Amino acid sequence: MFNKRVKIKTLLAGDKTNFEATVMGWVRTFRNNQFIALNDGSTNNNLQVVTGLGLFDEKILKRLTTGACIKVTGELVPSLGKGQKVELKATAIEILGDSDAEKFPLQPKKHSLEFLREIAHLRFRTNTFGAIFRVRHSLAFAIHKFFNDKGFVYLHTPIITASDAEGAGEMFRVTTLPLDGTAPKNEDGSISFKDDFFGRSTNLTVSGQLEGELAAMAFSDVYTFGPTFRAENSNTTRHLAEFWMIEPEVAFNDLEDNMNLAEEFIRYVIKYAMEHNKEDLEFLAQRLTEEENQKPQAERSEMGLLDKLNFVVDNDFERLTYTEAIEILKESNHNKKKKFQYLIEGWGVDLQSEHERYLVEKHFKKPVILTNYPKDIKSFYMRLNDDGKTVAAMDILAPGIGEIVGGSQREERLDKLTARMAEMHIPAEELNWYLDTRRFGSCPHAGFGLGFERLVQFVTGMGNIRDVIPFPRYPKSAEF
Ligand code: ATP
Ligand code: MN
Repeated sequence: MFNKRVKIKTLLAGDKTNFEATVMGWVRTFRNNQFIALNDGSTNNNLQVVTGLGLFDEKILKRLTTGACIKVTGELVPSLGKGQKVELKATAIEILGDSDAEKFPLQPKKHSLEFLREIAHLRFRTNTFGAIFRVRHSLAFAIHKFFNDKGFVYLHTPIITASDAEGAGEMFRVTTLPLDGTAPKNEDGSISFKDDFFGRSTNLTVSGQLEGELAAMAFSDVYTFGPTFRAENSNTTRHLAEFWMIEPEVAFNDLEDNMNLAEEFIRYVIKYAMEHNKEDLEFLAQRLTEEENQKPQAERSEMGLLDKLNFVVDNDFERLTYTEAIEILKESNHNKKKKFQYLIEGWGVDLQSEHERYLVEKHFKKPVILTNYPKDIKSFYMRLNDDGKTVAAMDILAPGIGEIVGGSQREERLDKLTARMAEMHIPAEELNWYLDTRRFGSCPHAGFGLGFERLVQFVTGMGNIRDVIPFPRYPKSAEF
């Protein structure tokens, strides 16, 4: 019985009419005791179901409330009304799940994103979140397709890790030891992890990169796409405590190859979404325009969402070194007029998001790749440049988001790598497995990490990262 269902998207896209079809979905609205707007999540467009006057028992019609789930069989006919080409003339309606109109939190009107975040378990049933999560799906699929078509191996790196040496961020501890003060202690009073589940201290991963490097040194081209966790207390619109990261790692690539790969990759997945999620992106573009119109003129972005995406697909990213960027920032009117919260005084400082956004949004007006950062503000595994001061790092900065990609050519020379680790007080014994790749058949290689939610933010135009992952985790919030 149930498998005769046709998706609403399919019905709306076909050019045939006058045949019988069965659809199932959730009632968005029921107007004039006659017109049901039915949605099944396959598209934002609702199917108009016409109940016909006097055809159905009043008892059934009363239950056609917003949120109710129904099964409808009827004839698909050309629609005389405005707004739709076809409609379903119902011959049978079955209520699969009632929805008490008084209690259902979603009303057929505009709700604020903040309110919807509080009912994240129901927000999938709104147009905005329907569109966002279909686009998110497409991007995830496009990512796998891009790498698969290039012959990359998809690598699953561990979620529980013992290495906390990478220093990418604060970690969440994983333990089965009791928290009531009875956990075994060492002589110096610290907790003894010998009796913990893994016999050592473990954490949730902050990145799969180090393991990715091990595999790249056998498969040449690998990528990871998995969850990562950072216990950083960043209450921003672009940080989550749990987010998904894509990390390609490629043997024989240098920094330039790495930049080329990242650019090609970002363009490909955006283009894929533009081709496969046209309606959803048009809807999101419209939403963003309305949101922008609420802002004072000066703060509005000059480009609409679709223009911005097209622009990224059609134009090369601006590439420059950290040193060049510092010069631009230092000499900028913004800096001279002390409009930055952190003024740029000289070489060596880490860039804040205000600086990144200035470069991207005000100066170049396009995505920017910054390279060759001072070694002291970057991770130990990045390859030391001949100047002895900078490393072969690259960050990609996107309009409205700031950093979207962080990557580098890796240090493949054992002596240089261990010297750097010693300088940074990273215990080499703990990373012996990592150093083995440099001992046995080391080779030049490079990779990067792209935060998936930041990509989804960029493509959907959503301002807050909490709105592009189904159930966001952030400080003081792990609901659902
Ligand atoms: P940021 O400076 O923005 O905090 P980061 O330097 O800590 O980023 P990396 O460690 O290089 O970031 O991580 C690689 C990518 O992962 C980043 O470019 C970004 O896209 C994403 N990312 C990092 N931290 C987060 C987070 N807390 N939530 C969502 N995405 C993140
Ligand atoms: Mn960070």
